[in-house]
Amino acid sequence: MTRHVDVLIIGAGLSGIGMACHLSRENTGRSYAILERRSAIGGTWDLFRYPGIRSDSDMLTFGYGFRPWIGTKVLADGPHIRRYIAETAEEYGVTRHICFGRKVVKSSWSSAEQLWTTEAVDEQTGDTETYTSNFLVGCTGYYDYDKGFRPQFPGEENFGGQIVHPQHWPEDLDYRGKRVVVIGSGATAITLVPAMSEDAAHVTMLQRSPTYIAPLPAEDPVAVGMKKAKLPAALAYKTGRARNIALQRASFALSRSNPALSRKLLLQAVRVAVGPNVDMRHFSPSYNPWDQRLCIVPNGDLFKVLRSGRASIVTDRIATFTETGIRLESGEELPADIIVSATGLNIQMLGGAAIDVDGTPIATRDLVAYKGALMSGLPNAMMIIGYTNASWTLKADLAAEYFCRLLNHMKAKGYSSFVAEAEDADRAPESMMGGALTSGYIARGDAVMPRQGRRGPWKVINNYYRDRALLRKADLEDGILRFGTRSAAARPVVESRSA
Ligand SMILES: Cc1cc2nc3c(=O)[nH]c(=O)nc-3n(C[C@H](O)[C@H](O)[C@H](O)COP(=O)(O)OP(=O)(O)OC[C@H]3O[C@@H](n4cnc5c(N)ncnc54)[C@H](O)[C@@H]3O)c2cc1C
Repeated sequence: MTRHVDVLIIGAGLSGIGMACHLSRENTGRSYAILERRSAIGGTWDLFRYPGIRSDSDMLTFGYGFRPWIGTKVLADGPHIRRYIAETAEEYGVTRHICFGRKVVKSSWSSAEQLWTTEAVDEQTGDTETYTSNFLVGCTGYYDYDKGFRPQFPGEENFGGQIVHPQHWPEDLDYRGKRVVVIGSGATAITLVPAMSEDAAHVTMLQRSPTYIAPLPAEDPVAVGMKKAKLPAALAYKTGRARNIALQRASFALSRSNPALSRKLLLQAVRVAVGPNVDMRHFSPSYNPWDQRLCIVPNGDLFKVLRSGRASIVTDRIATFTETGIRLESGEELPADIIVSATGLNIQMLGGAAIDVDGTPIATRDLVAYKGALMSGLPNAMMIIGYTNASWTLKADLAAEYFCRLLNHMKAKGYSSFVAEAEDADRAPESMMGGALTSGYIARGDAVMPRQGRRGPWKVINNYYRDRALLRKADLEDGILRFGTRSAAARPVVESRSA
């Protein structure tokens, strides 16, 4: 049996739930369904279960713009974020629209029918279901859920202990009294080290190269003040959010306009927090601030465990795993009972689903992002990719609002399809996530990430203020985005811009 909805959303994480809420908030009057592979809401925040899992964005900007995040903690833990997303879905009547346990494997656009046909596999029964929709929104995040990025380490077969990856955390892992080595220097490693050192005998963070780490107060003093003054939650959220967007933007802008000053300020804060006995070499990256994502530590928790001696940090390269731990290129041996490979993600688009337009397979790498939200040559479709240099949600919210504007505009004008077509000259070599950051996972994802453009709406600007103007206010009919009507459906909907 084929089921039809106006809008088919893939993924019930932060973006998919947000998208569904916007569909009703913006009164689009469109029916929708969400196909979700997992058995629960939350995406990333349901999948990742390692000790201490938390956001590294402040919650006033990581929360949805339309639903206040109530709380005074700057960062939040995974279970609280998961609950916030699930409660938002309940509040907006989204939950009953989700078909859980459905893995989307293929979506095909037909210009003649002006319709997407999507195949999803019920992973429990193995049955394939078919859905048709006028619009398709990919909210599948940006990485492979099945397998985290885990290099093959030399000699790892000799290691007598356990090797674990944060994406596949064994529920029953008992690390009490054990010696743990955490390989990595990103947000996950920086979270794991203080969390595990509470119970482990010792935790060593082994990094190949340092990352910028900024200590922040765990509690937001302004939010605490507003709560004490009994300011309405919505008002406190709005003002706190506006302040954090501005501060984050200013920090990013400073890193671009004066990287030397930005570096000096960041390193000074670390020097004060870490104390005189820890070598600053471990905190002095070779790149400029915000070339890679900045890591936040609440109340300097990482620095505290380093100072106390319960954890230590080593900057070196792995020569080989041994039976009892890791031998480094310097010759030093790190004894370990458990090794955590906090080595990151494998980038994947559309959750690995195949996509075609009128029977022609589309490689996601060949797409060019339009306004950082639509994709060249993909009619009636959107892929939500949030910011990497700020909170993901800021962009996901704007993209969803833009999509709803488009739907309402199409209804008012009697349009049934839209498509943006990039010309060769529009296409830049960088991926959508490239340009702003140079992190390893972005480089690894280059083979599958859609491109961005050189100019105009093709350029991914990663600037909330400018995106807000572009997505909320700018004319929808800009001469690049082309609209079609059902009566013209016999002709291919994808027309070239010069036609
Ligand atoms: C450990 C970790 C911490 C992070 N912390 C932050 C942070 O602090 N700030 C920030 O801005 N960003 C952070 N991110 C990025 C984070 O992924 C986003 O912030 C956000 O959660 C993405 O939401 P999403 O809904 O777009 O994608 P996801 O959370 O990845 O959800 C995608 C959903 O789509 C489903 N899905 C995927 N493929 C298919 C398919 N083929 N068929 C059906 N369903 C499918 C998945 O099961 C999942 O439920 C973090 C990422 C990780 C891994």
